[in-house]
Amino acid sequence: MLQSTQRLRQCAMMSRQQEKFQKTLHATFVCLNLFVAFNHAGDYNGYMVYQLSPNTSEKIAVLKSLESATGYDFWQEPGRKTSHLMVAPEQQHEFEKRMAASQIQTTIAINNVAEHLRKDGTFRDGQKEKSNKGTRRRFLRPDWKNFLFERYLKYNDMLRLVNGVVAKKSTANVITIGQTYQGRKMIAVKLSTCDNNPVILIDGGIHGREWAAPMSVLYILQKLIDDDEVIKKLTFYIIPLLNPDGYEYSRRKDRYWRKTMSKTPFTKCRGVDGNRNFDSHWNESGTEGDPCSQLYSGPEPFSESETRALRDLITSVRPVMYITFHSYGGLILYPWGYAPDLPDNWPELHLLGKKAADEVKRLFNTEYAVGASTNLLYPASGGSDDWSMEKAGVQLVYCIELEDFGSKFEPSPSELKEIVQHANTLVQVFTKHVEENYAS
Ligand SMILES: [Zn+2]
Repeated sequence: MLQSTQRLRQCAMMSRQQEKFQKTLHATFVCLNLFVAFNHAGDYNGYMVYQLSPNTSEKIAVLKSLESATGYDFWQEPGRKTSHLMVAPEQQHEFEKRMAASQIQTTIAINNVAEHLRKDGTFRDGQKEKSNKGTRRRFLRPDWKNFLFERYLKYNDMLRLVNGVVAKKSTANVITIGQTYQGRKMIAVKLSTCDNNPVILIDGGIHGREWAAPMSVLYILQKLIDDDEVIKKLTFYIIPLLNPDGYEYSRRKDRYWRKTMSKTPFTKCRGVDGNRNFDSHWNESGTEGDPCSQLYSGPEPFSESETRALRDLITSVRPVMYITFHSYGGLILYPWGYAPDLPDNWPELHLLGKKAADEVKRLFNTEYAVGASTNLLYPASGGSDDWSMEKAGVQLVYCIELEDFGSKFEPSPSELKEIVQHANTLVQVFTKHVEENYAS
């Protein structure tokens, strides 16, 4: 009896100790998570970017497993092409050991991300903007006609440019489509002469750090707005920047911020990956339930005002084609993204994608790979492209990862000037196809 009472006491004590240990472990994990998530605060000292060449699906799976781990951030997702992964200093030793054990070839693309940012051209532009008064005045008042797309604009300057040019065109209107979490106005430009014409919807910049994407959409708008012949036959809705909060945070505080800026209860980590937040196989693949992850899919589908704004516009204007611009990788992707499956009209999407890629190759000698998202990258669900086709019935859907010429998120002024022309060339080929096959 005495022995069994002692055993019970010992068991209770052990159980309390275990519980205490588990609580401590959990608290340590949470603290560590918050620490790693916030310790760079946009500084990135000691962070490295590795270039990886996983040549088998097993190796891609090893890389994919790192997505959920703290301290890892894929700049270019693993897939057929090489990928780029930023690794926090605390994880680098373990990461290199793991890559060696998995026989995944790695090279160092950026030795110290903080140093890279100090030397980087686009970042220097930002600093000049603050320090040089003459430059500042010029940058604050970019002129639409003479703007050469050699630098990245603030969201307010984008709005000023767009409002200025639209005011002069009878076929163009600025429509407010919503408000961001931080209260910024979200806009689309409608170009139309007849509401019965087939609709093409174009957006960019759902990911804050992908600055080349919204600049490309602005360039497309600059070219389309004066193309009266095309606007006679087709209606366009153009959203230059879908995630202005994330874009501005990326400009001002944390260059590699990807998500929205919404707050999630019970965590200090902010934001949701807008391109994992759409209600199409939501949270099934290539997403994270951890609010601190760059790939956090949100507490529920359409939890973000930015994704709801796009959803509502698409469902009300019912486009025949939807094109969404991202950066980077040089890819023309079509659905599906959630699983290695193909939509019924994939031959049309593939041929048209190839035709557009051929035109960019002919004009600029730059190659874009064409394929279903899951054939070129690993599965990722909850994207705006999948949702628009699956739930909104959009027939022709493309997600474009713009070329970066090896500069990753920081194309130089001359590179940006060419990238925006790639985007416009792709849209011209796509538009012609819709005009010839879908317009009456
Ligand atoms: Zn993106």
